[in-house]
Amino acid sequence: MIVLGIETSCDETAAGVIRAERPGHGEILSDVVRGQVEAHAAYGGVVPEIAARAHVEVVDEVVAKAMADAGLGFADLDLVAATAGPGLIGGLLVGLTTGKAIAAAARLPFRGINHLEAHALTARLTDELAFPYLLLLVSGGHSQFILVEDLGSYRRWGTTIDDALGEAFDKTAKLLGLGYPGGPEVEKRAADGDPTRFAFPRPLADRPDLALSFAGLKTAVRLAAERTDPLDAQAICDICAGFQAAIADVLAVKAARALAQLRSETGTDAPTLVAAGGVASNRTVRQALAGAAEDAGGRLVVPPARLCTDNGVMIAWAGAERAMAGLEDDPEITARPRWPLDADAAPLVGYGR
Ligand code: ATP
Ligand code: MG
Ligand code: FE
Repeated sequence: MIVLGIETSCDETAAGVIRAERPGHGEILSDVVRGQVEAHAAYGGVVPEIAARAHVEVVDEVVAKAMADAGLGFADLDLVAATAGPGLIGGLLVGLTTGKAIAAAARLPFRGINHLEAHALTARLTDELAFPYLLLLVSGGHSQFILVEDLGSYRRWGTTIDDALGEAFDKTAKLLGLGYPGGPEVEKRAADGDPTRFAFPRPLADRPDLALSFAGLKTAVRLAAERTDPLDAQAICDICAGFQAAIADVLAVKAARALAQLRSETGTDAPTLVAAGGVASNRTVRQALAGAAEDAGGRLVVPPARLCTDNGVMIAWAGAERAMAGLEDDPEITARPRWPLDADAAPLVGYGR
């Protein structure tokens, strides 16, 4: 089936067209992502109202380009999918309304997609990955371990109790005077830094659960920066390296714990860990996760970088998977700023966490 996917939940306006046959055999026909980095750069983070307006301005153009790149017209589609949540309400409404309008005009079925489910399933577009597996989603808005039991069946095993990991990278970069988004800047500096010069905490590492916390680490970075004189280029590199090392250690410990839980609960002896979200493109983080997966007798799967961050292709793929499996969906679905993947999860503070 041929599917158009639209994503507007945060700060990317994205649309993609795919041909979906079966897991591991999805074909990407087009993938258009329009970021809003410049619009938010001055604020060091995403400003919801600015994001919503930017989505309105470019969504038509982005969808038109995705269709043109695929060489298709709306009549060639079998399904339209758009992110319905979680995310920023203004942005969600833009993508959802656009998707519904296209579906109505072209007389196509429509599916409103959970953004987190799309992240959880993306790896199956290119990899014949069988359920169950463990997802570590680490992005600007989320940091969680999710058991992907089956299509439509997810359990959140652990989440951050404060900042998301990408947010911690962004805030750290901001207080060190580096650019936004902060993750790639911090990674670049860390490559020239000494990770042992500053001893940063490993938050919650010895707590016997899968909870994560990054706010304290950010404070530790601030204190280190304030106490270091001169705070020269080398000192900044050393702080970045120390910060990244702390994160890699914490993720390795928690991933090992989560994989042990996956082994014991599902009886699998080759547990798979899938990493997604912008932070999954960090090489130090990947190495730590790959090590944990190998130690557990399993493997780490990281989708191609383009598919790790927000995109329309993953929304199309999630729609295709649900449609191919015959899962029912509500065509009248409206924007859901908070929409935890596991229906019975307790609502938490902050959007979508
Ligand atoms: P969400 O998907 O949760 O709604 P988002 O749009 O912010 O939020 P992504 O686009 O997946 O998430 O990822 C962006 C985040 O990833 C930013 O916080 C950015 O700093 C971080 N990031 C990107 N590249 C790297 C890297 N190399 N190292 C660390 N962090 C990175
Ligand atoms: Mg983003
Ligand atoms: Fe995302």
